[in-house]
Amino acid sequence: MARTNPTYDRLAQGYLFPEIGKRTRAFIAANPSSKVMRLGIGDTTQPLPPTVISGLASGVQKLAKIETYTGYQDDSSGMPAMKTALLERYKAMGITLDLSDIFVSDGAKSDSANIQSIFDIDSVIAFQDPAYPVYVDSNIMAGRNKEKFVYMPCTEANGFFPSLPKSKVDVIYLCSPNNPTGAVATKKQLKEFVDYANANKAIIIFDAAYSAYISSPELPRSIYEVEGAKSCAIEINSFSKEAGFTGVRLGWSIVPKEIVCEDGEIGKLNRLWARRQNTMFNGASNIVQEGGVAVLSAKGQEECYKVIDYYMGNARLIKAGLEAKGITVFGGVNAPYIWMKTPNGMKSWEFFDKLLNEAHVVGTPGSGFGASGEGYFRLSAFGIRENVIAALDSIQKNLKI
Ligand SMILES: *Cc1c(COP(=O)(O)O)cnc(C)c1O
Repeated sequence: MARTNPTYDRLAQGYLFPEIGKRTRAFIAANPSSKVMRLGIGDTTQPLPPTVISGLASGVQKLAKIETYTGYQDDSSGMPAMKTALLERYKAMGITLDLSDIFVSDGAKSDSANIQSIFDIDSVIAFQDPAYPVYVDSNIMAGRNKEKFVYMPCTEANGFFPSLPKSKVDVIYLCSPNNPTGAVATKKQLKEFVDYANANKAIIIFDAAYSAYISSPELPRSIYEVEGAKSCAIEINSFSKEAGFTGVRLGWSIVPKEIVCEDGEIGKLNRLWARRQNTMFNGASNIVQEGGVAVLSAKGQEECYKVIDYYMGNARLIKAGLEAKGITVFGGVNAPYIWMKTPNGMKSWEFFDKLLNEAHVVGTPGSGFGASGEGYFRLSAFGIRENVIAALDSIQKNLKI
């Protein structure tokens, strides 16, 4: 008799987005003539720029001829042109990697969910609170004991970047620029974690999915800008938010051979990740990797950054609009998320209902990302400009605070 995997029963109910949908549909059913505006989506909305479209199209065309047709790649870690282009990107940032440190993938969600499989089941894992839910859920699904998880609160008092864990931990997830808080770690803040990890032979899993949104030159876009990170950090990144590839699907992970953990010789984590990927994954789509090479070309970068500027224009409008209403906001400067403090100490879901009922605007309750998100609310800059403006007008006129 087949039995279901009991670890799945230990997950918190997938409550956040279904509940947002449910409450929004109930509002629309009760108020059919009012237009609901969404400021909550974490998905891109703007079309891909021409250079990227040409890259994708050339990937399709190559499949049409026997001379240029390709099937499986030799290994799952990516086409040479794609990996070389990534290597060059890091080199331009002053970071020297080896081609074999780079693993191209179908996105940062799968990598950030799967990376835990190369660590001991009894590892003590530390998470930022609030955080992208994938980190915690993937570790529960793998069978880790959630009683042993260490949550590192990210609060107004610490500028939404955690202090070092008080007890000894083995694996630490960090996300910067952060989803949901929009906070960006400084080099000094990351250095503290890197020093901790090197001293304790702990490993940092650094999710840099929003690195392209950093415009302040002093803020690190890669953890490898911090001295010592190559011996203790895995970096995960993606074209989803940088290039609008949320539906196209392309990402990468860096597992440097220099990484040292408690057991195993230098290079072992890199080998384990290669083994895991070669067994469970057959490589990112050839077509999509041609698109990725185009994203990394000079012209592609210029065009993608125009789209990023557009989203960050939305972020500035949202931040200024909320501040004009007397609301305290964080983030939204080097990140596409605005993390607002709910007025008058309201609970996140209470404010969700108020914003929907009074202003007809949908956002994301902060409590859905962890206990420390209670009393906060996430707004996203990924909308279409006219909708963002309409939502802010409505908040200005109709929200009663
Ligand atoms: C959007 C996002 C990703 C990207 O996921 P993809 O699978 O590459 O689309 C990764 N991490 C965080 C925190 C995100 O918000």
